[in-house]
Amino acid sequence: MVVIMVGPPGVGKGTQGVLLAEAMNSRHIATGDLLRAARRDGIELGRKAQEFMDRGELVPDQLIVDLVREVVQKMDRDAGVVLDGFPRTVSQAEALGGVLSELDRKVDVVVVLEAEDDVLVKRLGGRRSCGQCDMIYNVHFNPPKQDGICDRCGGVLTLRPDDDPATVRRRLEVYRRETAPLVRYFNDAEASVCRIEADQSVAEVQRAIWDSVSE
Ligand code: AMP
Repeated sequence: MVVIMVGPPGVGKGTQGVLLAEAMNSRHIATGDLLRAARRDGIELGRKAQEFMDRGELVPDQLIVDLVREVVQKMDRDAGVVLDGFPRTVSQAEALGGVLSELDRKVDVVVVLEAEDDVLVKRLGGRRSCGQCDMIYNVHFNPPKQDGICDRCGGVLTLRPDDDPATVRRRLEVYRRETAPLVRYFNDAEASVCRIEADQSVAEVQRAIWDSVSE
């Protein structure tokens, strides 16, 4: 099964994407995580992406499509995948359709997580990310077991540089302009689109996603 997670920054795509991939025994592919890993490793892709990420803008489609194509093509044909943060533009969605059809696959479910901007801004202010493995926590809603330390790998948790209020506003604008039109695109393509109210607890959102995906 190929599942796509769509939603504005702070809506919980990362947290829910990891949980859904675990429940489906699938691979979780988050393009933001892949780009941050490329930056940490000092590879060219990371250097090219850095200035866009720091400004809260999208990395050019071609860079990201090539990255995803490489990962998806290497996967076992039957392996499930949860794509988190990709596609983010209609042109990325078209490119993904091409890559999948070469592999005789298609997008099965599109999960759209929704919440009001003030909820997103508040959540992003409390968000902490692991500098080592990119796991996401929230000091208010989803704290780590030990303050400031990642449960999964023991890395140090910090506020991501692009979670500062000015960059968050920019990322929200970019979402509305570039990414929100994907909902219509997938509806028109007759994909199964599930809209989920994300202003609920992690467990409630998780249950709602699971109910939609397993329908
Ligand atoms: P995220 O971790 O999903 O919030 O992504 C962080 C940043 O990485 C975004 O603000 C973009 O600069 C970049 N990025 C991640 N995924 C994509 C994508 N599919 N297309 C373009 N840029 C992306």
